[in-house]
Amino acid sequence: MAAEGRRSRDWIRRAKFAADLFLVAAIVAALAPPAASAASTVPLFDRLAALQSAYPGAVAAIEPDALVLADGSRIAVDDGRQKDHEEKLAAADVEDMLSQIYPIGACDDGQPPERNFDPGRIRNDAVFRAIYGATRQAAEANLARVDWFGAKLPFATAGGADAALKSVERELSAEPDLKAYLVPSAGTFNWRVVAGTKRLSAHSFGAAIDLNTKYADYWLWSGGKPGNVPRYRNKFPKRIVDVFERHGFIWGGKWYHYDTMHFEYRPELIAIGRLAEARGCPRN
Ligand SMILES: [Zn+2]
Repeated sequence: MAAEGRRSRDWIRRAKFAADLFLVAAIVAALAPPAASAASTVPLFDRLAALQSAYPGAVAAIEPDALVLADGSRIAVDDGRQKDHEEKLAAADVEDMLSQIYPIGACDDGQPPERNFDPGRIRNDAVFRAIYGATRQAAEANLARVDWFGAKLPFATAGGADAALKSVERELSAEPDLKAYLVPSAGTFNWRVVAGTKRLSAHSFGAAIDLNTKYADYWLWSGGKPGNVPRYRNKFPKRIVDVFERHGFIWGGKWYHYDTMHFEYRPELIAIGRLAEARGCPRN
């Protein structure tokens, strides 16, 4: 009888423990954010930390609601506005800029991008001006000449962009069969707006390179119009993309609004993409 009583007390204890666990789980579920952000395995704080460590010369600190710049000024992380994709492109805050996770490694399924999946194309102008220079003259003063298969290309020095491009060139030099895709470069530094918009291009800051236009597919050149993107095409070998990504560049060929000759120095997005890969490849 004594053993019987002990068993029943044990069972009661176990049942109470299970009920407590359930209660805790229910409270956690009730407190959790909505499904879209619950799916994320790279919290906003980690994304901001990636931005700071990519550009320590520009971003001195991160606060829950602001980036603190080297000069002590602040850029709000979230402007509090609900935006659709076009509105994010036109007026991105920092959170919008980091909202789409660039897929690399195991997260890259090689499929054409989904509608409005443009990781890296959403840019916050104030962050770029803080990193690379607020005006054409300031951006120009921060350029170095990088050897690109014999051509001297102007490229930004901030965040180590020029050294990264040099590393890409060195690595790709070992694969002569790729050279036709790489030269001549269609351009690096060019203070200009994105075609059909008022937004500054990454080329304005000398942080992007276009490869040989002969192999390029660009959604606008293919007859696209806002809201109507032609079928995805790409002629650039994946080996080129892999090398650029290894050195902190994202590829415009992974955008719904595709631009396959375009590579852009975004080490923060590569770092976030690696975090996502390590945590099971979430989609944003
Ligand atoms: Zn470009």
